[in-house]
This record gives sequence, C-alpha cells and structure tokens, in this order.
Amino acid sequence: MQELYPQTGVCFDHGNQAKLYMVYTLGCNAACDHCLVESSPRRREKLELDVAKELLRVGAQFGKNFLDLGGGEIMLFPDEVYELARTAADLGYYVSLNTNGFWGRTPERARAVVGELQQAGVGAIFPSASAYHLAYVSIDRLKHIRQACRDLGMVYELNWVRSHRPETDAFIQTEMELDSETIFPNSLTTAGNDAGTIEALKVVYGSSVPDDIADCGSLQLGVNPHGHVIGTCSMTNRNEKFAGTPLFIGNFHDTPFDELLRAERDSAVLQFIYRNPHPALHKRLIEDPSLGRYYQDTFGTRRYYSVVDYYIDVFRDERVMAGLDEALR
Ligand code: SF4
Repeated sequence: MQELYPQTGVCFDHGNQAKLYMVYTLGCNAACDHCLVESSPRRREKLELDVAKELLRVGAQFGKNFLDLGGGEIMLFPDEVYELARTAADLGYYVSLNTNGFWGRTPERARAVVGELQQAGVGAIFPSASAYHLAYVSIDRLKHIRQACRDLGMVYELNWVRSHRPETDAFIQTEMELDSETIFPNSLTTAGNDAGTIEALKVVYGSSVPDDIADCGSLQLGVNPHGHVIGTCSMTNRNEKFAGTPLFIGNFHDTPFDELLRAERDSAVLQFIYRNPHPALHKRLIEDPSLGRYYQDTFGTRRYYSVVDYYIDVFRDERVMAGLDEALR
C-alpha cells in the first residue's frame, strides 16, 4: 500500500488558492466516532441550494476553479448535488465529491449513481474508508462504487483514515486491496463525536515538532452551513480554534462573500501558506533576523498533531504576527 501525503491526485492538479471546499450539510446517516465536524443523523444544518450556488458564482469571479463537495453526507441530497455540480461545471469548476458511499447498495445502483454524477459534471469521487465508517457503511458498498468508477472512467481516490483498531484497519486494507492502491491519508484533527476515540488516536498518530510535521500540501478555503469561511478544509463543527487567526476569514451570513474572498486574496499569510508547504514558513521564521531566536525558542520543541494546529499556534503569537503579513508580501 502506498500512503501518499504529498503530492499526487486531482487535488494537486489545482492551485490551493483556486480551491473551494464546501461543507454542504452537517447532517449524516452515520455518526462516526472521529468525525471532524461532528455530523450525525441528529444534525440538521444545511446550506440552501441557492446560497450554495451564489457562493460558487462569486467564488468563480475570484478565480476559484476546483470545488470539493462534502459534509456531513452530501449524497443524502442527490438532486441538489446534481444541480450544484451542473452549476459548478458551467462556471468552470472541476468538481469532486466526498461521500461515505452508503448509496452503493448494489453494483447496479452504484453504477447508476456514478453515471448520474458524471453526467452532472462530477469529475472525481473520494469515498471514505475507516474502522469508524465501517460501523455504518459496509465495505461491499465501497467496492461497488470503486468498480462503477473504474467502469465509467470516473476518478476514484480513497480517503483512508487510520484508526485505533489495527485489526479492522487490516481487514479494510485486505478487502479493498489497498496494497496495490495509492490511498490518501489524513493527519489527525483532534475533534470528533467520541472523546475517548480522539484520545486513543493521539497515541496512534503521535505528535511532531515543526521540523517533522507531515503536510498535506492542500490547504484550501472552506465554507460551511454556519457561514464560516475558513482558510483550510480541516474545519471542525464550530471552528472556535481558528478564531482570531488569519485562518478564520469571516462569516458570509454577516459579510458579503465577495468581501471575504477579497480579504482572502489580500492576506499575505494565507496566500503564502496556500502556495508553500509548511517548512517554508518555519524556515522563514527561523531565519528572520529579529524573530528567529524567539521563534525557535518558543515553537521549536512544541508538538502538534497537524500542520493546521501548528499554524494556529504560531498565528496566535502576537510577536510573530506583528509584521509577518508585511514580511511575506
Ligand atoms: S466522518 Fe463522514 S460518514 Fe462519518 S459521520 Fe462524519 S460526515 Fe458522516
């Protein structure tokens, strides 16, 4: 099995500054223990279709051309997905879709739905596979979707999430024949539906000092039904941890989306981290004549579970932030 963090797959064919990740709904027919946005069947928040289409239209005006649709489980609203995808494709977006794959009940059903998605303009499907998903969606449904994608020429990239249950991970790896596939792992976002699982995952994933953090290399703008506009797709439910940093750009319910996209475009910090993997910022700060010693003493030995948590920590430091935006211009 080839686990690739950097840098292959359709996500990497597009500049991060041109990407838009849309959490369309926070509702889901599953309630995975490690769900970043804490989705479940009890959740009801969802974007209105017209609002989502307007976000796409404004996004296109600001150069967005890669749309990653997700949730929650967006395929609970298939007709809205088809319409959104058609709108996005007409606006020039490449469209990808994240899903837990519940709809792949039979080979025939999977093929029919993949065909409809393809006709609507979806270019890639990213199904999720993990021990947590398996509690809700059988592995057979993912196999049906994989086969349908192969038959119809749809790009298929599996989102793999390592769990704290190695025997179930091994079962999935065998069943999905992951030894011969490239899969797309995630770093650890320490949020989810079950606090005990998150603690167990911290042990499995471990934390890293800034020199050693793995970087997905695909930071991208995210929006969700709360109206949050965040400079990363690693959004959580409430996104409190991003508040007060350049990563929390604003709320489109309060501020016109075009103003927020202008702020994103004009943020030297965001544009720098979209275009450079995190070692670039780390190196830049170490080598800064006035900040380097302070930065190294303060952050050099701190440990993080993800590059996003590293950014949040650094961006909360007033001394680092004073002048960083200017220095990166
Ligand atoms: S991880 Fe995906 S499938 Fe699981 S609850 Fe969250 S949105 Fe639903």
